[in-house]
Amino acid sequence: APNSIEARDIAYQMHPNVNLRTYEKSGGLVIESGDGIYVTDNNGKRYIEGLAGLWSVAVGFGEKRLAEVAKAQMEKLPYYHTFAYKTHGPSIELAEMLIKLAPVPMSKVHFTSSGSEANDLAAKMVWYRSNALGKPDKKKIIGRIYGYHGVTIAAGSITGLPRNHQSFDLPLDRMVHTSCPSYVHFGKDGESEADFTKRMLGDLEELIQREGPETIAAFWGEPVMGAGGVLVPPAGYWEGVQEILRKHDILLVVDEVICGFGRTGKMFACETYNIKPDVLVLSKQISSSYLPLSAILMNDNFYQPIADESDRIGSFGHGYTASGHPVATAVGLENLKIIQERDLVGNAAQLEEKFLARLKALAEHPVAHSSRGVGLLGALEIKPFADGKPGDAALAVAAALQEEGVICRAVMEAVCFCPPLIITAEQIDDMFDALGRALDTVAAKRA
Ligand code: PLP
Repeated sequence: APNSIEARDIAYQMHPNVNLRTYEKSGGLVIESGDGIYVTDNNGKRYIEGLAGLWSVAVGFGEKRLAEVAKAQMEKLPYYHTFAYKTHGPSIELAEMLIKLAPVPMSKVHFTSSGSEANDLAAKMVWYRSNALGKPDKKKIIGRIYGYHGVTIAAGSITGLPRNHQSFDLPLDRMVHTSCPSYVHFGKDGESEADFTKRMLGDLEELIQREGPETIAAFWGEPVMGAGGVLVPPAGYWEGVQEILRKHDILLVVDEVICGFGRTGKMFACETYNIKPDVLVLSKQISSSYLPLSAILMNDNFYQPIADESDRIGSFGHGYTASGHPVATAVGLENLKIIQERDLVGNAAQLEEKFLARLKALAEHPVAHSSRGVGLLGALEIKPFADGKPGDAALAVAAALQEEGVICRAVMEAVCFCPPLIITAEQIDDMFDALGRALDTVAAKRA
């Protein structure tokens, strides 16, 4: 039988989001503990977690208040559900807090456990609502190429990344995709950013006309695309999208699973980009991922037909054993109190300039191409290797950076950064000093 922890991992665990054959050979980095912005591996090496885990540990690792709240709630009422005309305090308190925090007037909160589940359910609710309104043909959903909304059947279909569709028989027929509004990637030679925005909006309008506006129920978007590679929208994009959706009576579902709770320097990116969603999807920083938790916030116009339909049929036939789990919602509530008390949103806003300036300076490095970002969410685009496969150069930079003691995420040709919101100015310097050394290492190896 295998002995080392690495060998036992390879022997017994099938990992998500990897090439399984590569994993069988290389294994993974075993992380044992975390403290603040740092995590430590099983050999005692410490890393800056430059991606806050999976874009999620806002308050940093080892936050005692969250552990204490979880323990107290475990002892008082470790589990109860929200089915069958039952409810409990932690879910009520968090729902109330979210309604008060929401960037636009919202009517109800519904809890789920992951971003995928929340998006999947939001899609089901969109269909349920169309039936309620007597519009059974208005069910299509528009996602965007490179958009990421999770991997369950509906959410994975709205996602616009080939790797989440291929061989899974996705997307579902009802999901269609419009262009990715990343000017650095898809702007044409000589095209201004303003003309690019116009072209993106034209593509959306054309897709709606082609499919038939009367068949389209909702548009889905992340304010800034995260997992697609930190793709920041061009000026005027969100204003234009909302105008088109209003014209055609199409709902707007905004996925702030990464952006929510301070990432862009405001509590919600809807405030950063002046977006007015009908439905808002939240997860990750809602609990700093200490426990699985997600939420769907919906306005009254969205909720009322759904309530009517449940009355007509007899029940809203959806829910999970863990919907509104008391320990997860108690931790979520305490986590949001910490974000507010320590003004972590203000910290992100204040450090944005430094964070983006350091990235921009690194973009001058011979192996780098450009930088982008907002708040404490950023990416450095790396020049592809002339003789490599797509993404090789970014992977090489991420590997060299890990040697230097910083974990980031390579996506396509970029390395992405999304550190815990508790990061300080000095720690941003440490992180990007290490990135500079990693770029030098890669440049030296290629010379
Ligand atoms: N939506 C967005 C914007 C995400 O970034 C993610 C995960 O990265 C999801 C949804 C899916 O969340 P989960 O992995 O919790 O299912």
